[in-house]
Amino acid sequence: MVQSLSDLSREDIRRGLAELVGEGQVNLDEDVLRASSVDRFKKYQAVNGIFQGPIPAAVVAARSTADVAKVLRFAHEHRINVVPRTGITSTEGGLETVVEDTIVLDGSPMSTIVRIDAVNMMATAQCGVPLEVLEDAVRLQGLTTGHSPQSKPIAQMGGLTATRSTGQLSTLYGGIEDMIVGLEAVFPDGTICRVKNVPRRAVGPDTRHIVVGNEGALCFITEVTVRLYRYRPENNKARGFLVDNMDDGLSVIREVVTEGFRPSVCRVYSEEDARQHFADFHKDKCVLLFICEGPEAIVAATVDEIDRAVKGVPHEDVDPARIERWFSDLNWGMDKIVAEQQWMLKEHNLGYTTEISANWSDIGEIYKAAIHRIRTEYPYVGDLTMLGAHSSHSYQTGTNLYFVYDYNVNCEPTEEITKYHIPLNAIIVEEALRHEGSMVHHHGIGKYRTDWTEEEHGSAYYMLAKLKEAFDPNGIMNKGTIFKA
Ligand SMILES: Cc1cc2nc3c(=O)[nH]c(=O)nc-3n(C[C@H](O)[C@H](O)[C@H](O)COP(=O)(O)OP(=O)(O)OC[C@H]3O[C@@H](n4cnc5c(N)ncnc54)[C@H](O)[C@@H]3O)c2cc1C
Repeated sequence: MVQSLSDLSREDIRRGLAELVGEGQVNLDEDVLRASSVDRFKKYQAVNGIFQGPIPAAVVAARSTADVAKVLRFAHEHRINVVPRTGITSTEGGLETVVEDTIVLDGSPMSTIVRIDAVNMMATAQCGVPLEVLEDAVRLQGLTTGHSPQSKPIAQMGGLTATRSTGQLSTLYGGIEDMIVGLEAVFPDGTICRVKNVPRRAVGPDTRHIVVGNEGALCFITEVTVRLYRYRPENNKARGFLVDNMDDGLSVIREVVTEGFRPSVCRVYSEEDARQHFADFHKDKCVLLFICEGPEAIVAATVDEIDRAVKGVPHEDVDPARIERWFSDLNWGMDKIVAEQQWMLKEHNLGYTTEISANWSDIGEIYKAAIHRIRTEYPYVGDLTMLGAHSSHSYQTGTNLYFVYDYNVNCEPTEEITKYHIPLNAIIVEEALRHEGSMVHHHGIGKYRTDWTEEEHGSAYYMLAKLKEAFDPNGIMNKGTIFKA
């Protein structure tokens, strides 16, 4: 817990907020406040009704950019910690309110699609628009955002931008950082900045990238404009293969991508991970799969290249219909979150993930080293019910690994994070950094990888620290996120 630095009491903060935005927008319900003190990093404690951290003073519903500016200016003047939020799918502690009397500033009421511009191929949405709502709206015009994180039914544009999210189709469309054309953000002193929508420019450093990925630690994102692409699902083609090991799968993906082809989905699952996802056909092998989309001729050429590249390793074909079926049920809406909660309560078993990235020459070593260390060093390895990984986002220079670990909780719910999640996460992060990879591929640093932020950035940490000092001199933005508390 971090002590509040504010000159105002909890009651004064609540009164001040009600005066600023009206009582109707200030939620003081104790259950809401408790639930707003954590995110999915503490999902097991939360489902057991345990909320140990400081409970926020209020959850404020922001209905406009002006509301955001008023609340941030008030917090800045009175040194009150603010946790921005939108869709609440955060997995890394980014929403935890570690400072007493925090204000949770909720942008989800800002849920207007401002404009769909089919000529200039961009859509503008307020921060609280769920990605799926935006995607459904642009599809009505034969277009797509190309963004498809698994949390698409729930995650909203503000949080997706703030975490540098990436989607299942990223090998073709890129991450959110490749999609954002322009945006609007509010800084702690109430300054509203708009970055205009142009295809490219050379006018100094790109200011979008101060905002994208800031995890609510520098500013509050109120609006974004994203690129649009033509939506042609009728051309989609899937390919699937069983291969002997991760190295073979990774080498095929590398071959396809570095030859210049861009399937939208490129994945290889380790044997253990494949067992979980492809129960009906994995045969205890790794599963390598691709989905190709876009204009028919490009799809045909990409499929030909995949079929050529896979010949370089021993493999067995999988019926593409099985890959299509699996892909159509990959996203997580509230139904799966509720089912997961029921499972955790009944079985005391749960899963977490740690996602890292590295260059092609290092990624296989990171996979082997992390799995080996967990199997040989981790004292509670007997409680693990699954340990595996998959590569799911590939680039010209390398790829990611998404480690997945499930375990039975054989301790008090309050000890679960420190006994299981934190040490397992640490081994994977350490191995990624030791092999000169990145410790976070797409979930954001949140509050549990901050011990390594400086090591991750090396000498470039200077720039990051200066941004924090310059934009948030009173340290009110999401204390403990990206930077240590
Ligand atoms: C089942 C599941 C699947 C997931 N799959 C993916 C995936 O495929 N790809 C992926 O990248 N992520 C994935 N995630 C992680 C998560 O969905 C993303 O990080 C998402 O971008 C968070 O969006 P949100 O609107 O829910 O943000 P929130 O959870 O509300 O917030 C996330 C972070 O952003 C900050 N923030 C939120 N809104 C704003 C704002 N307006 N301005 C400034 N800061 C803000 C918060 O303070 C917090 O630090 C998954 C999560 C779940 C639960």
